[in-house]
Amino acid sequence: TFRSRKGLPEKRKIRDVKKVIAVSSAKGGVGKSTVAVNLALSFARRGIRTGILDTDIFGPSIPTLLNLSGEPRLDDNNCLLPLTNYGLKSMSMGYLLPQTQSDSTTGEVPMDSTPISWRGLMVTKAMHQLLHSVSWGPLDVLVLDLPPGTGDVQLTINQEVIIDGSVIVTTPQDIALRDAVRGIGMFQRMDVPVLGMVRNMAFFACPNCGHQTRIFSHGESHGCQNEDRGVVAEAKRLGVDFLGDIPLDARVCEDADRGMPTVVAEESEDRSARRQAFLDIA
Ligand code: ADP
Repeated sequence: TFRSRKGLPEKRKIRDVKKVIAVSSAKGGVGKSTVAVNLALSFARRGIRTGILDTDIFGPSIPTLLNLSGEPRLDDNNCLLPLTNYGLKSMSMGYLLPQTQSDSTTGEVPMDSTPISWRGLMVTKAMHQLLHSVSWGPLDVLVLDLPPGTGDVQLTINQEVIIDGSVIVTTPQDIALRDAVRGIGMFQRMDVPVLGMVRNMAFFACPNCGHQTRIFSHGESHGCQNEDRGVVAEAKRLGVDFLGDIPLDARVCEDADRGMPTVVAEESEDRSARRQAFLDIA
């Protein structure tokens, strides 16, 4: 019933969800999932009914980040019931895989050993289920943690569901920024509004003296480097908002590793600049 005349699935809204925000990065390892989960938790902390959908089939990280595991139950319509922690509903491929199939230390799925033909089929099916068969209940915002890249999976997701806005996560490094620009182009071609860019690992603040060092500062406003090549300038050039900086900070990583993201872990520390950075962006 959801096929268009061309046989392609028709784009539709995710049931019970008011707004879908995709968090994306063109490159892996820039902190996309960390930003996605902390933004979602920032929304939830403000009383906005929020969910997060981990669409990374091969390396789901939301179960680890939210310290959740176990198989989701099904409702009467055979839809998956999200798992909740810290007031945030979540769904991830990581919950659907039998425990023996996922590596308990990394949460990663060793799909590499699966035959290619199978893989394609499984991915399509799994993605479809994640996008359309989750019983979110009424949500104001669903954050989509997209897999890194600008390829077929991202296109498929965009063809299946209406994305109301996208957030691009990048580091200040030239190469990440170049890729991020490509990511912005992809969303613009798909007519998805780009809400803005987040610069993660923007600077390192020394925990002892507070001195800030811009570690990945090529092209950023630093010394004799040319400001015109930085994230802020690039955002301006593309007519996209710059949403803010997240510091490179061991605590962000430690919080993530123990399954209690910074926005929750440092709730009682009113001077946590890391936490405030996420809240300000949200
Ligand atoms: P991606 O989703 O882009 O692959 P992740 O969110 O998984 O990236 O982050 C990659 C690694 O970097 C993780 O170990 C994470 O804890 C760490 N990390 C992310 N952002 C920061 C930051 N601002 N400071 C320190 N470590 C970070």
